[in-house]
Amino acid sequence: MNGSLLRGSDKITALNKIGQKRAQLYKKLGVETVGELLKLFPRGYIDYTSPVAIADAIEGEMNVVSVTVTRKLMPARIRKGMTIYKLVATDGETDMTVTIYNSQYLFDRLVVGEEYLLYGKLTVTGRKADMQSPLVLQGDSEDLIQPIYPLTEGLSQGMLRLSVKEALRRIDDFSDVLPQEIQRRCMLCAIRYAYENIHFPKDNHALSVARERLIFDELFMMSLGMQMLKYKNRESNAPKLRSVSLQPFSQSLPFELTNAQQRSISECLKDMQTGCSMNRLLQGDVGSGKTAVASACAYAITKNGYQTALMAPTEILANQHYKTLCEFLNPLGVTVCLLTGSMSQKEKNEIRSLIREGKCSVAVGTHALFQESVSFHKLGLVITDEQHRFGVNQRSALAAKGESPHRLVMSATPIPRTLALMMFGDLDISLLDELPKGRTAIKTYGITGKKRDSAFGFVAKELDAGRQAYIVCPMIEDSDSDLKSVIKYSEAVSRTAFKNYRVGLLHGKLPADEKERIMAQFQRHELDVLVATTVVEVGVDVPNATVMVIENTERFGLSQLHQLRGRVGRGKYQSYCILITENMTAECRHRMEILAHTTDGFKISEEDLKLRGPGEFFGSRQHGLPKLKIADMTQDIELMRKAQREAQLLCERDPYLEDIANAGLKKAVEELFDKGSDL
Ligand code: ADP
Ligand code: MG
Repeated sequence: MNGSLLRGSDKITALNKIGQKRAQLYKKLGVETVGELLKLFPRGYIDYTSPVAIADAIEGEMNVVSVTVTRKLMPARIRKGMTIYKLVATDGETDMTVTIYNSQYLFDRLVVGEEYLLYGKLTVTGRKADMQSPLVLQGDSEDLIQPIYPLTEGLSQGMLRLSVKEALRRIDDFSDVLPQEIQRRCMLCAIRYAYENIHFPKDNHALSVARERLIFDELFMMSLGMQMLKYKNRESNAPKLRSVSLQPFSQSLPFELTNAQQRSISECLKDMQTGCSMNRLLQGDVGSGKTAVASACAYAITKNGYQTALMAPTEILANQHYKTLCEFLNPLGVTVCLLTGSMSQKEKNEIRSLIREGKCSVAVGTHALFQESVSFHKLGLVITDEQHRFGVNQRSALAAKGESPHRLVMSATPIPRTLALMMFGDLDISLLDELPKGRTAIKTYGITGKKRDSAFGFVAKELDAGRQAYIVCPMIEDSDSDLKSVIKYSEAVSRTAFKNYRVGLLHGKLPADEKERIMAQFQRHELDVLVATTVVEVGVDVPNATVMVIENTERFGLSQLHQLRGRVGRGKYQSYCILITENMTAECRHRMEILAHTTDGFKISEEDLKLRGPGEFFGSRQHGLPKLKIADMTQDIELMRKAQREAQLLCERDPYLEDIANAGLKKAVEELFDKGSDL
């Protein structure tokens, strides 16, 4: 047996009993080095610390009992390859039998007269208790809390426990990169203690102390990375704006700005007058009027002789923004142009040269605007809409494009504040927490499929009154069967419930120009009903649409439903949202209640966070943040706040971690953000 000291960077083959073959299995778990093995945190534990009396054990469930073996019965050989071993054990008060299938090894290990802790499922027939195939721990064992690791075929819990134990024993460099001062202030345990006790907790208290330390580290590194990004971005030189009177702009608007809009606009202007670049997130519920804020910024930038680029995630939205910006800005003499991927090469070239020569002040477009080579005459401001679709990396890539333009990011996804601070930690935040006056709340109803016909009857009445309706069917990305069902669905409704109306179908698999055409038809009221997948989720504006029907509601998150609902209620008519689900579970009912009674997107997002966890915000979306190994954003909100505060404090003192004392920390942050291109 080799017992020499190891480093975290050593290959796991340095451990006993791990050869090339087993190393391949570990690789499947993402473990190639000793350090990575120690970061393979248990997914749960078997807690032998509080055994129950056999009489109190819960039937049909896993229990821990502390027993002495009193008698072993003759093995019964049922058939070839199947032997059943039985023994009798007692906890001093009650007897039970233990049944072991086929494991002579385990049977032999259990010695009459000895004490053991058994963990297994208990069944009771008549008055006889029996535990089948239990896990066994020697009665005098010290490790009363046993880790359960994520496994892959060919690796067992036993092998992992042995190897992790060995690694903990032989590892030499638990170099602790977290500054001592922070550890003291946050009352965190030492790193070696944390690793030892996350794998083999002394007791439950030690486990929670260990977890806290490791979670803190992870959240702290993440916050620190985002903070560093913020500082880096702030450094850069950006156009320093003269103060500009916004009066002409406000006066030409067809409405009065809300207080929240005015506040956000002045926050932006203030940023842009400092000479450092603005990096601001404009967060506002659907319909809160983000475009007007963006336009005000573009106006101020234009008056200072710079150009603005506005980027939208889809062509439909780019078109819509283009129209709105033309409406707001053209009367003030500001030129706006549109550039999208589906334009002909010739058109694109023309627009590009307008942008290059500075003849166009505001350029609106899709990603294509930036991905293809576009050079600006004097780019001063980059605005991105629906930013949660892009990630941190894309954000920086954009900024790299111009010299050092100001950046405004618009997000319609209300994100719980703590998560926003994490995902957008590199940005300052302005909140549009007020809807324009005169909006009527959307009436929301939840029904089962049984009532679909009467719901469709209601929709038809709205259509007869000259309104329009959306029907949204969920579609998991790239699922052919979902696509088929959306197509079938639309065919079915246009033959039945809506046969006297014009029905269109919109889904993500259509070519861009086709999508565009259908959406435009709906906008011009050449279609009455639009059956769609979540393509319509993002800010499409059709004020005449008053009904949103959503099928298979259970497949959407609350925030997403809220966003979809926001497609209606944009005009002067009372609007409705009908949520349909086949299977009205208690959870479903609860979710529908929340939606029916809450109009505040932020409240809904908090509920979403509670119900479905942060995956809704972090998981499916391309956020560009590192994957967390141990921290759970819902459970660990308090720690997250602490970690954020400490990261802020540290960054104020040493924003680039140049202090030699922070060198290890810097390396760890870079590793976390991987190939650290941003940092
Ligand atoms: P979102 O924040 O969802 O992008 P928009 O910018 O598309 O919202 O605005 C939604 C609608 O509200 C648009 O029709 C816009 O013209 C209108 N709007 C914006 N601000 C105001 C306001 N202060 N008063 C009245 N209507 C407004
Ligand atoms: Mg919008």
